[in-house]
Amino acid sequence: MIFKYSSKEKHINHFHFLYHMYLIYDPIYLKHEQNRWHPESPERLRGIRNFLEKNGLWENVVTPTSATVEDLARIHSMDHIGTIRDFGEGPYDMDTYVHHETFDIALKAAGGAIKAAQIALKGGKAFALVRPPGHHATRNRAMGFCYFNSIAIATSLLGKRTAIIDYDVHHGNGTHDAFYSSPDILYISTHQWGIFPGTGAVNEVGKGEGDGFTVNIPLSGGSGDSTFEKAFEKIIIPIVRDFRPELLLVSIGGDAHYRDPLASLSLSTPGYVRAAGHIFSLAEELTDGGVAFMLEGGYDIPALSETVGGIVALARGKDIPLTFDEKRDTKAYGRRDVEDTFRVQKEYWNL
Ligand SMILES: [Zn+2]
Repeated sequence: MIFKYSSKEKHINHFHFLYHMYLIYDPIYLKHEQNRWHPESPERLRGIRNFLEKNGLWENVVTPTSATVEDLARIHSMDHIGTIRDFGEGPYDMDTYVHHETFDIALKAAGGAIKAAQIALKGGKAFALVRPPGHHATRNRAMGFCYFNSIAIATSLLGKRTAIIDYDVHHGNGTHDAFYSSPDILYISTHQWGIFPGTGAVNEVGKGEGDGFTVNIPLSGGSGDSTFEKAFEKIIIPIVRDFRPELLLVSIGGDAHYRDPLASLSLSTPGYVRAAGHIFSLAEELTDGGVAFMLEGGYDIPALSETVGGIVALARGKDIPLTFDEKRDTKAYGRRDVEDTFRVQKEYWNL
């Protein structure tokens, strides 16, 4: 099918303002391999690149420079940085491996996130097509295929009032932790409840000065397009508006897709693109159009590739065919979950 927005949808009817999106990429990202059978494989980025090329979308590609150890140290302890740098070869934990090249490639991934955020700050659009992902990495620990928290590093380095929307299927515990006490960084996450890493409950809302600046929307398995529409409409859009960010960043994983093998939310590709449309509209309204998407997870390669492609196409005002368009959640399966977050967050925001 050709996916089109109807003119009735008020948040997403002014895309004539959008003209292009930079892709941030470096071939070194393909050299990061955990082990042969690991789902976080170089094939993920190869699939995305092939899809973009096939659809005439592989253009405006920017090669980033690497982040420095000082950049990493804004978010991570020197202990952790040293551990990854000097690790050598082997399993760090059950699902996160380290090789000799891991440190340098992770520095380049953080550099990609920084570059994308710099573009967003100037009112541009960027999609950081990076590996390894970052949103699970905490101050002292690698976990969940992540070594250093690229989006948190970029956020901290740019030092602006920043809203981060994380719609990977997993809770971005590392990003959540990094800014849990900060009133200057709004962190909003949708994630499947009851899976890795187990954090991100509805009542985790920030602490101290950061009280109210963390918004967790844990969702029941099965939640998809209609539930996400509700979450954007009732919670995400009004809170980001109320917060008035200077910088808008997105952690996106393709693993909330119905085809993903690691989790069981049910977003379709058009559902993903529609959510991105809401984010583009927020950017038009609040940040001169500036927004940066950072790639996190997503393990069904055709679905991941189409999801990224659909978002890049939308940013560039192009229609491309989207095939994974089954709307499995038509009745807002996670309505109660959204209402739970709404009840908690209306104490803090103008909802
Ligand atoms: Zn994920």
